Amino acid sequence: EGNRKTDSRMVLITARCAKALQLTLAVIKPDAVAHPLILEALHQKILENKFIIVKSKEIVWQRRDSERFYAEHKGRFFYQRLVEFMSSGPMWAYILAREEAVSHWRALMGPTKVFRARYVAPGSIRAGFGLTDTRNTTHGSDSEDSARREIAFFFPEFSVAEWMESAEPAFRA
Ligand code: ADP
Repeated sequence: EGNRKTDSRMVLITARCAKALQLTLAVIKPDAVAHPLILEALHQKILENKFIIVKSKEIVWQRRDSERFYAEHKGRFFYQRLVEFMSSGPMWAYILAREEAVSHWRALMGPTKVFRARYVAPGSIRAGFGLTDTRNTTHGSDSEDSARREIAFFFPEFSVAEWMESAEPAFRA
């Protein structure tokens, strides 16, 4: 009897946590990974903003990985430089969790274009560390749907559903 009570209370608490948590896919792009101080500053930014780092890994893309990931931009004037850049050196990829993770990480990054970011979001990551509109330091999923798709792209072995259903989501990393 005593045990059952404790158990159901635990489930309630963890269920509420799991509901509030959202996952997003964040990437530190090759321009930033090339500079240890900037990489360190971005790691700090993730931690300061109370994200749970669910998974993280260093990754190097082949050109075909870039082309597959950015297929929607094929034909745009920046496509060639984008796919070359994204396969030019190591990146760091993360599955991050917190409340409103998708919009929070996007807000921290700032707008796509670095020079626009400097005007409209001067404290943002891209404003601070971006080099050009292409070499703009970070990627972040732009919706819950793209987060699912992009998490599967970067971490095919990871199951969002399993993680969400788990009794102890924070400890499944
Ligand atoms: P975001 O990364 O902010 O979601 P997009 O999905 O529109 O932006 O573009 C993907 C990436 O393509 C950008 O992060 C950037 O590296 C590059 N890019 C987008 N627009 C431009 C542009 N106008 N000029 C140069 N590079 C661009």
